[in-house]
Amino acid sequence: MIISMRPHATKEEIEHVCERIREFGYKVHSIAGEERCVIGAVGVGDVTACLESLEATPGVESAVRISAPYKFVSREFRKEKTRIRVNGVEVGGSEFVVMAGPCSVESEKQIMETAEGVAKAGAKLLRGGAFKPRTSPYDFQGLELEGLKLLAKARQATGLAVVTEVMSDRDVDQVAEYADVMQVGARNMQNFALLKTLGKCGRPVLLKRGMSSTIKELLMSAEYITAHGNPQIMLCERGIRTFETITRNTCDIAAVPVLNELTHLPVILDPSHATGKRSVVPALARAGVAIGADGLIVEVHPCPEKAFSDGAQSLDLQQFLAMMQSLEGYLALWQQMRTGESLPGAPMQAASSPQPAAVRA
Ligand code: PEP
Ligand code: MN
Repeated sequence: MIISMRPHATKEEIEHVCERIREFGYKVHSIAGEERCVIGAVGVGDVTACLESLEATPGVESAVRISAPYKFVSREFRKEKTRIRVNGVEVGGSEFVVMAGPCSVESEKQIMETAEGVAKAGAKLLRGGAFKPRTSPYDFQGLELEGLKLLAKARQATGLAVVTEVMSDRDVDQVAEYADVMQVGARNMQNFALLKTLGKCGRPVLLKRGMSSTIKELLMSAEYITAHGNPQIMLCERGIRTFETITRNTCDIAAVPVLNELTHLPVILDPSHATGKRSVVPALARAGVAIGADGLIVEVHPCPEKAFSDGAQSLDLQQFLAMMQSLEGYLALWQQMRTGESLPGAPMQAASSPQPAAVRA
């Protein structure tokens, strides 16, 4: 159930409502929205009696039953888009945020050169794996702690925030010491022990969609992190497995607007893993802007040919800069759509049919 309090409900009224919810046998989760307090109740009990009682309780504006199994990440629970502040940058707000960097952190020279290049081109976060989930145990597994330290060094040199993968619940504390955003890779989307631990890590999480996972399963995984205490989650569409073999994965482009309808969490598109092909990454990045993603995560390497992992899908610094420049016209339109939305992050038709700059001119 979701209980929306009136805009100026008093603290006492809110506490009384929570008390009533507990009396009916439900657990209370409450978040104070920007305009009003919204209370979530989960558990098993007499829903009808509880709803009727709450509707008659002072300070309550509405009490509704939620049908989706994911509650706290649903749009029904929170109308405004969740904004996540990372090092002075806001994801899910009025800025389209680009995260870029190598698949793996390989050396000081490599990460520094990449960080400086992507920062100059307009990226706001530096990506780079120190713990790498590789299909083969014989492939490069990442520099681990040394990689985390190099990322922190690159952050210090450039001011870029760091997003890096954590593969195991055992590593959460260590990764959280160095990372600004904790990435959960596709292969770990349903590692529930990891998700629960991330609920307590105190850092925002970038949750990537599993390669064979449904949108609902992605949202349920996000629900795990929220239910364990951390509502700061960005979702990431990174392509799913299909019968297609020319691309590494099939980008489920519809997942972005669908997620924007179903959840208030920011949505990031990863055009690199979604295609596996450097040549099509910029086109997909532009698509991401057009369909209302909140940002991108892109693989960039100073010399993709020598990359320890994912070289074929990595842009070099020049190509990344060109991609960023090719996004400019689309970003102007994105801004226009964002400001025109009646529900922040809601489907794009909410804007009054903005025309691309080129068409208007
Ligand atoms: C990565 O970001 O390098 C990565 C391993 O991505 P995914 O988990 O989406 O495969
Ligand atoms: Mn990669």
